Amino acid sequence: MARTVPGIRDAVAAIRSEGRSVAFVPTMGALHEGHLTLVRAAAATGAGVIVSVFVNPTQFGPNEDFTRYPRQEARDAEMAGSAGAEWIYAPGFATTITVDGPSEGLEGAIRPGHFAGVATVVAKLLLMVRPDRLLLGQKDAQQVAVVRRMMRDLHLDEIALEVVPTVREADGLAMSSRNAYLGPEDRVAALSLSRGLAAAEATAAAGERDARRIEAAAMAVMEGTHGVAPDYAALVDPDTFRPITTLDGPATLCVAAKVGPARLIDNTLIRPT
Ligand code: AMP
Repeated sequence: MARTVPGIRDAVAAIRSEGRSVAFVPTMGALHEGHLTLVRAAAATGAGVIVSVFVNPTQFGPNEDFTRYPRQEARDAEMAGSAGAEWIYAPGFATTITVDGPSEGLEGAIRPGHFAGVATVVAKLLLMVRPDRLLLGQKDAQQVAVVRRMMRDLHLDEIALEVVPTVREADGLAMSSRNAYLGPEDRVAALSLSRGLAAAEATAAAGERDARRIEAAAMAVMEGTHGVAPDYAALVDPDTFRPITTLDGPATLCVAAKVGPARLIDNTLIRPT
C-alpha cells in the first residue's frame, strides 16, 4: 500500500519493470462486488492493477454525506489486495478542472461542484499513475461522460477508457456503497429505481419514441413507491448528456431518487425498436 506520490510511482515502476501494462481503478472505498468487477476486468489482460481509495471531499456538497460516507480501509485493502496494489491518496490542491457540457445537467445541476471535484481528482490521479487503461463503472454514467470529455480536452486520451456494465444485486438494485444506509424498508423501496428503468425500457420496446413519455414511465414507478422521493428520470445523449426529445438512437435513461437516508442513482441504455 502506498500513501505518497513517490510510493505510487514506485509501485507503477515495479509493474512496468515486469513488462506488464498498468490499469487503474479509482474508488472512494467501501468496496463491493461492483468495484471488484472493475478490478477483475482490469486484471484480466495480465495488467498490474492500481486501486485508489480516496473519499474526495471536493465532490461532496456542504449538506451531503461526506462525514458519514462509509470508511473501511483495512477491509478495502484486503479486498483490493488480491488483485493489485491499493493506494490511499493524500489530498491538498488549489487547482480545479471544470468540464462544461456533460457536467451541466442532472447530477451536475443538483450537486453543484460535484463533477469539478471528480474531474480534478481523476485528472490528478491519471497524471500520477499514468496508466495504460482507466476503468470506470457504467453505474455513474454522467461521470463517465465528464471524465471522457476531460481526458479528450487535456490530451489524456492515449489512456484507454473502459466502461464496465453496472453490477446489480440479484433483485436488480445497482450495487453502491450508499446502499449501506438503507434500512430494510428502504431496501425494498430502492428497487423502484431499477424497476422504473425496466418500465421505461418496456415502454420504448413497445415502440414509444417520445422521450418525455419514456421518462414518465420510470418516474411513475418511483413516485408510486412509498418512501421514495425522485429527483429525475431523464433521457439524454450518452456523450453530451444533453436531453433528447425523440428516441432515434441509443440514449441513456438516468434516474435519481432519495430513498430514506440515501440518495441513489441508476441508469440504462435504451435503443429505439
Ligand atoms: P465509487 O467508489 O462509488 O466512487 O465508485 C468507484 C468506481 O466503481 C466508479 O467507476 C463507479 O462507477 C464504479 N462502480 C460503483 N458501483 C458500481 C456498480 N454497481 N457496477 C459497476 N461499477 C460500479
